[in-house]
This record gives sequence, C-alpha cells and structure tokens, in this order.
Amino acid sequence: MIEVKQIHKCFGKHEVLKGVSLQVAQGEVVCLIGPSGSGKSTVLRCINGLETYEAGEILINGQRVDSMSPSIHQLRTRVGMVFQRFNLFPHRTVLENVVEGPIFVNRIAPDVAKKSAMALLEKVGLAQRADSYPSQLSGGQQQRVAIARALAMQPQAILFDEPTSALDPELVGEVLAVMRTLAADGMTMIVVTHEMGFAKEVADRVCFLHSGTIVEEGPAKDVLGAPQHARTKDFLRRIL
Ligand code: ADP
Ligand code: MG
Repeated sequence: MIEVKQIHKCFGKHEVLKGVSLQVAQGEVVCLIGPSGSGKSTVLRCINGLETYEAGEILINGQRVDSMSPSIHQLRTRVGMVFQRFNLFPHRTVLENVVEGPIFVNRIAPDVAKKSAMALLEKVGLAQRADSYPSQLSGGQQQRVAIARALAMQPQAILFDEPTSALDPELVGEVLAVMRTLAADGMTMIVVTHEMGFAKEVADRVCFLHSGTIVEEGPAKDVLGAPQHARTKDFLRRIL
C-alpha cells in the first residue's frame, strides 16, 4: 500500500536520506526507530507529501506522491499524520477540532460529520470532553483527540511521529492503548517511536534508520530481540 523506493533527500548540501526504501502492506504496522537526526521525521514527511525529495519514488496505492502535484492535497487527506506536539486548534473545542477537516476539506454535511466525530471520540474515550478546549485537557487526552481528528478524515493509513515523546510518563499508556486498538482494527500505520515495548508487541516489522539509511529491518522480535547490525545493537543498548 505504501511503497518508498530509494528516496534521496537533501537539505542544502546535507543529504539526510540516502536511498531509503520501505514497503508497508495494507493493515501492517511498521515501527521506524533510530537515533535523533537519523531522518525518521523526514521519511514520514516525504510519504505525506510535506517534503519534496530529489530522487526515488513514493507510491500510495500505486499513486505517486509528489508534493508539487495539484492532487497532493487530496493525497494528504488519505494519509493521516499524528505529531509529537498535538497541533490542535486552541480556540476550538474538541468536537470542532475533529469535525473541521471532514466539513471543510471533505465537504461532509455538518450533522453527519458531528455524529461520526462523536463516535470517534467515544472510541478514544473522550466523548464526554467534546465541548472542552484543548487547554483543559491533559497531554494524553489532547493526543487522543489528535488521533480522533486524523481518523475523522477516513485515511487509508496513519503516520505517527513520536506520538508519546512529549507526554508525561504516566500519560503514555493511554495513547499507546488507543494506537493498539487501531492496529487491531487493521489500520495501516507507520510509527516512529522510542517505545520499544509497544514496537515489540504491536509492530509487524521494525526498521532501524541510521544517518539516512535503513541498516536493519525485520520482524520486531528479530530486530529488537536479536539485532544483527552493530549500530542497531548500540542504539538499543543506549535506549533500553
Ligand atoms: P529525526 O526525526 O530522526 O530526528 P529528522 O528527519 O528530523 O530526524 O532530521 C534529519 C536531519 O535533517 C537532521 O540532521 C536535521 O537537522 C535535518 N533537517 C530536518 N529538517 C530540516 C530542515 N527543514 N532544514 C534543514 N535541515 C533539516
Ligand atoms: Mg523526528
């Protein structure tokens, strides 16, 4: 469903992705791990068409992702993204945050959009907070709203960029629980995370990125349990 083929990406003279390839099948969960600065966010941003790339190709269900193409906005609505910082609109309620995209981008009738949004808020355990403002919620609750907002666009896949890194430790579990449910429901997901417990339990595959190159990739139990590459071993030793 998502095919990343040999992409190269430079910021000025700095080549930050040096031929990254990644395939994700429908319903698969792939965790992308690696040290800070290795290019994880850039990979996600290229897949979502938020960044251009110099060489290679990215296909979503066979359609080329090209940030310059006029159809990029449409493509972006089909691939959701959840960021480290929740990026909710501060002056809109929880419900308004979730219905914004469906109403104004997907042109869904407001009453229909509200009904679906309430069902999604129910799913992430926040239906009773529909009329709250983001600032009245904990970080974990805000991130669950952000997930509901991504789901409201009915995406074919969701990319998560360190969704729990900005949270206090006691709030991480509730967000991972929602992500686990999505995975169990068959959502196609790429998750950049340092939560190795989650990766072990939920990921079909783990890719380890280092300096813009995927140096190791395989089932979670292999990459995390018995890493082959020295850089993977070193990284895991330092974060565990
Ligand atoms: P990660 O998410 O793994 O921490 P990033 O993808 O954010 O890594 O960044 C990879 C490299 O690209 C880093 O060296 C970073 O400094 C650089 N980089 C990221 N975004 C930009 C940008 N907009 N302009 C210049 N350099 C950037
Ligand atoms: Mg990053």
